[in-house]
Amino acid sequence: MDSPLVRLASCSCGQLRARVLGEPLRISICHCLNCQRRSGGPFAQQARFARENVQLEGSSTEFVLAGDSGARAHFHFCPRCGTTVYYEAEALPEYIMVPVGVFADPAFPAPTVSVYEERMHGWVVPPPDAEHYP
Ligand SMILES: [Zn+2]
Ligand SMILES: [Zn+2]
Repeated sequence: MDSPLVRLASCSCGQLRARVLGEPLRISICHCLNCQRRSGGPFAQQARFARENVQLEGSSTEFVLAGDSGARAHFHFCPRCGTTVYYEAEALPEYIMVPVGVFADPAFPAPTVSVYEERMHGWVVPPPDAEHYP
């Protein structure tokens, strides 16, 4: 029998970690301004997992941010190094989202959904076969 797929997400200093089981249910990129500021990049990429498939280790500090739609998300970051390792959306309580960069894995699957493209930096080219939303 194959052993189940496990991936480890970690903050920069290593004390806050998320161990996730199985492939993500959804992988998206978001070009909204909140995601640009939060991630420090021109867009953010995140993977969605069922809560029961995520095992969290270490201590985190929470920051709550409301998006343009008013939907609130709880971002959990390492109090020592500041890396956001996971977040929760109040509208989607059964899931945990993990920013893809914290896996530090260039082989991580590509996004299949691209949202807030009206805020997209001009040079960015999302995967052509992804779902696109303005
Ligand atoms: Zn850290
Ligand atoms: Zn966003």
